[in-house]
Amino acid sequence: MATTVQDAQQAEDKGRKFAGIRTKVSSHLSQNEALVFEKSSPGKKGYKLPTLDVPEVDASAVLGGAVRKDAGCLPELSEIEIIRHFTRLSTWNYAIDLGMYPLGSCTMKYNPRVNEFVSRIEGIAEAHPYQPESLSQGALKVIRQLQDCLLDITGMDAITLQPAAGAHGEFTGILLVRAYHQSKGNPRRKILIPDSAHGTNPATAAQCGYEVQNLKSNALGMVDLAALEQMVDEDTAALMLTNPSTIGVFEAEIHKVAEILHAKGALLYMDGANMNALVGKTRPGDFGVDVMHLNLHKTFSTPHGGGGPGSGPVACKKMLEPFLPTPIVEKAPDGSLRFNYDRPQSVGRVRMFYGNFGMFVRALAYILANGPDGLRQTTEDAVLNANYIRKNLEDTLELPFKTPTLHEVCFSDRRQAAKGIKTGDMAKRLIDYGFHPYTVSFPHIVSGALMIEPTESESVEELDLFIDAMKQIAREAEENPELILSAPHATRISRLDEVGAARRPVLRWKPKAE
Ligand SMILES: *Cc1c(COP(=O)(O)O)cnc(C)c1O
Repeated sequence: MATTVQDAQQAEDKGRKFAGIRTKVSSHLSQNEALVFEKSSPGKKGYKLPTLDVPEVDASAVLGGAVRKDAGCLPELSEIEIIRHFTRLSTWNYAIDLGMYPLGSCTMKYNPRVNEFVSRIEGIAEAHPYQPESLSQGALKVIRQLQDCLLDITGMDAITLQPAAGAHGEFTGILLVRAYHQSKGNPRRKILIPDSAHGTNPATAAQCGYEVQNLKSNALGMVDLAALEQMVDEDTAALMLTNPSTIGVFEAEIHKVAEILHAKGALLYMDGANMNALVGKTRPGDFGVDVMHLNLHKTFSTPHGGGGPGSGPVACKKMLEPFLPTPIVEKAPDGSLRFNYDRPQSVGRVRMFYGNFGMFVRALAYILANGPDGLRQTTEDAVLNANYIRKNLEDTLELPFKTPTLHEVCFSDRRQAAKGIKTGDMAKRLIDYGFHPYTVSFPHIVSGALMIEPTESESVEELDLFIDAMKQIAREAEENPELILSAPHATRISRLDEVGAARRPVLRWKPKAE
């Protein structure tokens, strides 16, 4: 017991060391943490406008009934109060710039500063989407060059950079599938999705008007070819396959999966969000994939989540090219680059302008800074790091699938659950040790999943700290379960009412009743 308390103390010290910034502000928390709205006092302003030097216009004459009668109940604060509020909030958050973020299936990798440097070069940062093409040749070249790099990496024939996220890319890709089948006279009715798929896959298929059919995985966690053979028919539009799968297993027989589909005229969609395990090693275009998306905000190091807008390019084979969103970048006869809007079979636009251009710049900077050998090394390091964790924790945590894994590893909480400790409890305790939690309870084919993806960003020292933390948590589960069940202890806010948050969410600030 004594050692456990000591361990807990150590864990909390570690947590605090990491959260140094937080502890510094904690002395006058009670006043300063008051939400920005409660700090409001009438008449304060964070701006100062010059006196009006043009004739005043009666807004209702221009906007009619659209003019609002009152200014709304907005908080009134000075500039420094607002700056402090948001800066303080930013220190309460976890970030890849603060520590390891081992969220499986999400590739939370470091965003190299060279990307940021390049994206802030004036001509790039200030480019306007309405600039004439003649003045946008540099931006068009960035788009074109990134497209060429991604085609090279994926082995596909054509690509659009328009979609703004992975799920948006899936949607675009399945629209291509639908348009392709439609052009042959029948959009077909159903899409097959393995039970190990990312949750966005069935949602995408349903959004595109398809019926989703669930495909069981075999004992290795891969597509069951016999089951697939039975399910595919002339009404199957496509199979959506995450490769490597959400437990990090490479679909070793994916070329056979493609053959079975193609024999019935169906297409193979690959969810390429996990390309961090494949870049520079193998190419989906070479193993039968017809259409796929990439996540620039995962594999290609652009900011993720709250850190910036996403980008989910869709690459496809030749026969799907006519359906790609419009416009596409092409070379004019005089050698300059231009947009082509004249594409009668296109599924149309999926995003205004040309997509999140700032992310293209960052991804291209990342690709060029690494070069082909660097990218391959990145893949090898990501896989090595995940297997280092797997090897070091396989005696501590249950490993349900023994199949070799690539860039992530999926354990189960079976051993700890026997003591009443679930994956979510251990994840909360991990926060005390200064780490962002791994992915909890997903994928569903593993009950009580702990899905861990360290990425190539982490040093062996950091991995050892993480492994040590997980081992200590497993020990705590044996000796002092209560410590875990009440975690986190070293954070500003302790355990939340998650059910309440899901069932009765408070999504909007409302002024206090006067
Ligand atoms: C992240 C992810 C997605 C969705 O990407 P978003 O950019 O979050 O929409 C889809 N599939 C897999 C396998 C993923 O990991």
